[in-house]
Amino acid sequence: MTITIPENVKPSGGLVVPFLSSIPTQPSAAPVETLPNKPLRLVPALVGSLERRLTVYIECPEWCMVDHTREPAGAVEDVMHYGDTESADISTLLDDNTLHSALMAGLCIDPSSTDPRLRQAHILVSNENNPEDARLTPKMAEELADDLADLATHLRDLAQIARQTHAAEVQA
Ligand SMILES: [Zn+2]
Repeated sequence: MTITIPENVKPSGGLVVPFLSSIPTQPSAAPVETLPNKPLRLVPALVGSLERRLTVYIECPEWCMVDHTREPAGAVEDVMHYGDTESADISTLLDDNTLHSALMAGLCIDPSSTDPRLRQAHILVSNENNPEDARLTPKMAEELADDLADLATHLRDLAQIARQTHAAEVQA
């Protein structure tokens, strides 16, 4: 028995010839609005209680230093992202073993905060003497940086004056 395949049927199935011309010209793809530069990656995170822990993949900014598989979160909305911190330690000549205070700054995002400002990348500034962290917008961080630069200049001036005063006292 011979099977005759109509010309407009492909061996793999599907009708070809008469329908190609009937397919309307497709409009070109809508221009895709490019997202602002927001480097995010998907990383594994451990969430859930000890008995019901599982790994989920979450968006995490490139600068985040947290290994979300080493620090399990109770729930996915508890996951926070923290960047590397720099600190300025303030010691005192009266006590070699204890810091007087330390000012630390790093990036932070709390993606599911009820406060939309904390869902944006912001700068976390902490001081050992204050249990409450300060949270700064980029503009606030720039203003603080200007103040700290002025303070740094002032500190160098003070150091020079103190050194000169000490030298004069030694010579006298
Ligand atoms: Zn992260």
